[in-house]
Amino acid sequence: MAKKTVKDVDVAGKRVLVRVDFNVPLKEGRVTDDTRIRAALPTIEYLREQGCRVILMSHLGRPKGAPDPAFMLDPVAMRLGQLLGVPVRKLSEISGPGVEAAAAGMGPGDVLLLENSRFDPRETKNDPSLVKELARLGDLYVNDAFSAAHRAHATTAGLASVLPSVAGLQMEQEVSALDGLLREPKRPFVVVLGGAKVTDKIKVIDRFLDLADQVLIGGAMAFTFLKAQGHSVGASKVEEEGVEVAAEALKKAAASSCRLVLPTDVVAADDFSEDAATQVVSAGAIPEGWMGLDIGPETAKTYAEAIVGAAEVFWNGPMGVFEMAPFAAGTRAVAEAMAASPGVTVLGGGDSVSAVNKLGLADKMDHVSMGGGASLEFIEGAELPGVVSLPDKV
Ligand code: ADP
Ligand code: MG
Repeated sequence: MAKKTVKDVDVAGKRVLVRVDFNVPLKEGRVTDDTRIRAALPTIEYLREQGCRVILMSHLGRPKGAPDPAFMLDPVAMRLGQLLGVPVRKLSEISGPGVEAAAAGMGPGDVLLLENSRFDPRETKNDPSLVKELARLGDLYVNDAFSAAHRAHATTAGLASVLPSVAGLQMEQEVSALDGLLREPKRPFVVVLGGAKVTDKIKVIDRFLDLADQVLIGGAMAFTFLKAQGHSVGASKVEEEGVEVAAEALKKAAASSCRLVLPTDVVAADDFSEDAATQVVSAGAIPEGWMGLDIGPETAKTYAEAIVGAAEVFWNGPMGVFEMAPFAAGTRAVAEAMAASPGVTVLGGGDSVSAVNKLGLADKMDHVSMGGGASLEFIEGAELPGVVSLPDKV
């Protein structure tokens, strides 16, 4: 299912409309994490080398379909300019005569950034009139925003129906990493799932029970599984409506060749806080009033061994409340095992990616997906509008 990319068509000298995902965190007018901007550099640099006029589009945050100073893209243009080493002109509009005039004045290699696409209420409605106005600016549409591909908006999907379209290099990498893992995973294929909610990720668990050799569970969702098995989980976070769902997954796993593995020990705390009293207890017997906030050392060792012994690993969701130091060891153990594993390692998910970034281990992974929600939907088997609208490689 490889997508046709910017390298598969003649782009030389063209006016190219590129949808990127510059939905980055801002603080006091500065970009505090430029990972997503960096991810778009290969495509932008390639197009500049080819003498293209590069017109960039992105959303940032959730403005309510109207201009909002808190979500203007000026800090992004500033950071992008620093990374590219050339000034990036940022416009205060998304479409219209002013934008057309600016685009007409571009030279080869110039980079222009349109204002936050969600300032226009037509963006999220995939309104054909906005699509038409934008399409006038370019000869080619490039979608390099995998993390926004689960939305059918004007800039993420609509443009692909009116302009010749290809995937950007980041999009291509995301799709081929996830598609490869779903289509023909190397075995043993180990999946590690953690994070907050079973109900958020049940379809992902379900898909992997069909595909993987082992699914290792950590994070808060482990307690919903333990409860479904009839264990006492004390004051641990349990999703009542998830217990049934977890029981179904356990039943499915028992009947399949995939092992669904739960923690055997946990780090329990008497309070949800950094300076709570803690003890390592058996996962099956968490004392009354105590809550499990991380997998225990025995579980971490078991999971790490499985990861190091795998030929392919996919990980989503932290193993514990890694934001607090006393409950970060499980997540660190998994991250370090991923880094050490000789297998193909793929990581996805907002909080898990930020945990791995914090540990400085992101560049030790074979692929780090930028697309939190989009990557999970992709794994569930959903057709992402931003992906299906792009032509396949022939
Ligand atoms: P991701 O963004 O990687 O997909 P999620 O959003 O599903 O992950 O979950 C991340 C959150 O889960 C983190 O904020 C973390 O603190 C929380 N979490 C992990 N383990 C526990 C736990 N045992 N109890 C409560 N919260 C937890
Ligand atoms: Mg999250």
